[in-house]
Amino acid sequence: MLKPNDGNTYANHAWPGGYPMEYLATAYDNPYDRDEFIVCPQCANKALANHIAFVLTKDEWFEPECNIVMENVYWEGPTDYCGVCNGEIESAYGDPEETD
Ligand SMILES: [Zn+2]
Repeated sequence: MLKPNDGNTYANHAWPGGYPMEYLATAYDNPYDRDEFIVCPQCANKALANHIAFVLTKDEWFEPECNIVMENVYWEGPTDYCGVCNGEIESAYGDPEETD
């Protein structure tokens, strides 16, 4: 499990700068099959507080061992969606491919 920067909670936003953060989580749905997905800071903190958090929404996983393995400042790109709550994770500078 990645240690939060302040030791207690994963940040919503990078400091300094206030850029949005996203987290990479891994979970095993069986001992040989690992799943990786992006989660929002709220869900990362749920996973930190309670390792079974993901089983509540991903109940097909019988072995809900999950780990936050990486933090990332989400600089640029299309809006990401949290793999657990489906919440939007917007990038700091938006999607460069997007045309209005
Ligand atoms: Zn979430």
